[in-house]
Amino acid sequence: MRISLIVAAGGNGVRFRRSLEGSAPRSKRGAPRGVPGPLSKIFSLLGGKPLVAHALAGFRRIPAIRETVVAVPHSHLARLQGLARRFGWKDIRCVPGGRTRAESVWRALGETDPKNPWILVHDGARPFVSPKSVGKLLRAVRNAEGAVLARKVFPTLKEVDASRRVKRTVDRTFLYEAQTPQIASRKWIARAYRENPRALEATDEASLLESVGARVKVVEHEAWNPKITTFEDLRLAEAYLASGRREILRTGFGRDAHRLVRGRRFYLGGIRIPFSKGPLGHSDGDTLLHAVTDAILGATGKGDIGEWFSDRNPRYQNVRSGKLVAKVLRETARDGWRVEHVDTVISLERPKLGPYKKAMRKALGALLGVAPDAVSIKAKTMEGLGPIGKGEAVVCEALVAMRKVVS
Ligand code: MG
Repeated sequence: MRISLIVAAGGNGVRFRRSLEGSAPRSKRGAPRGVPGPLSKIFSLLGGKPLVAHALAGFRRIPAIRETVVAVPHSHLARLQGLARRFGWKDIRCVPGGRTRAESVWRALGETDPKNPWILVHDGARPFVSPKSVGKLLRAVRNAEGAVLARKVFPTLKEVDASRRVKRTVDRTFLYEAQTPQIASRKWIARAYRENPRALEATDEASLLESVGARVKVVEHEAWNPKITTFEDLRLAEAYLASGRREILRTGFGRDAHRLVRGRRFYLGGIRIPFSKGPLGHSDGDTLLHAVTDAILGATGKGDIGEWFSDRNPRYQNVRSGKLVAKVLRETARDGWRVEHVDTVISLERPKLGPYKKAMRKALGALLGVAPDAVSIKAKTMEGLGPIGKGEAVVCEALVAMRKVVS
C-alpha cells in the first residue's frame, strides 16, 4: 500500500479568532495565552507544541505513507516551512490552500506523486489521532474505495421545519459522525473532482466518493478525536493532555562542612560575606552551595559532589561553586528535572547572617531558577558548643524538592 498524506490546514480559522474575542484568558501583553504572534489556529500551542505538529505526529511512523503535503493559507507557508525544519520533517511539502477545504485538498492532490494509489486526508486541527486508529482505517479500506474514521452518534437528534418546529426525532441506530483521517482511492477521488460540479463545496472526502458511487466504509473508534474549532476547544484539549501527564516529585538531602581559616574569602549561598575568616577548600568553599549540589544529586539519584568534581582536579581550584551547581542542574534538566523548592540550615557562630539572608535567597533562587520565596535560608549558632561554636567551622544542610513531568 502506497499512500500520499494530505493535511488540510488551509482554513483561515475565522471561528477560532472570533471565539478569542470572547472570554479567552489573556497574558500581560494582551495576547490570548497559548496563541503566539499573529493569531492562527494551527500554530496555537497545545502542551507547548503547535497544533499542526500534534496533527502530524500520529502519522510519522507509518511506512505506507510515502509523502506528506500540507495545505496552509498562503500567509502561513513560510511559518510552516520553518516549523518543518525545526521538527526535522524532511518529507513534508507545503502548498497554499484554497477557498474551501475541498479546494485545498484538490490543490494538495495536484502536488502528490501519482504513483501512490491511496490518498489519506487529515484535518490539521485534529491533534489526537493515534497511529492505532490510522492502522485500523488502512485495514478497513481493502474491500472499498474509501474509508472514514467515525464515532457513533449518541445525542438525541431532532429534525425541524423552517419555523424550527420539531418534525421528528432522528433514529440514531445508523448514524455516525465523520472525522478524519479519511482514506480514498486516488482514481475515485480524482474522478469525483472531475465529474461532480459541486466538488469544491464538499465538506469531506467521503462525500466526494459517495457522489460518484464509490464504496466508502465507516471505521468506528472510541478515542477522543476532536477538531479544534474554537479557543474553548483548545483549552479542553489542553486539559485532556494534562490529565494524561504524570508528575514525579522527589526530595534530596545534602550536607557539607568546611574549616574556617584566616586569609580566605567567605562565600556562602553564592554571595560574598565580609569577615576575617573564610572556608578552607579546593573550590571557593561555598558550603551552602555544596550542600545544595549534593541535595540535587540526591533527589535525582546522580551520586555525590565528590564523584562529579574531584578536589584533585586543578580545573576546580578556587572555582566559584555556582558553576558546579549550574553544571549539575544542566545535566539533571536533560532528564526533565527542575527544582521546585529548597530549604536550608546554616550552622555558624559568627558573623550574624541576618543582614545577608535576603541577598542569599535572591542569589540562590537565580541560580536554581526559582523565585526567592521558593528558597529558605535558616541560620543557627551552636551556643558556643563544639568546633562550630568556637568559630572554627561552618556546616550547611539542604533539602531540595525536584519535579519531573512524564507523559
Ligand atoms: Mg564542600
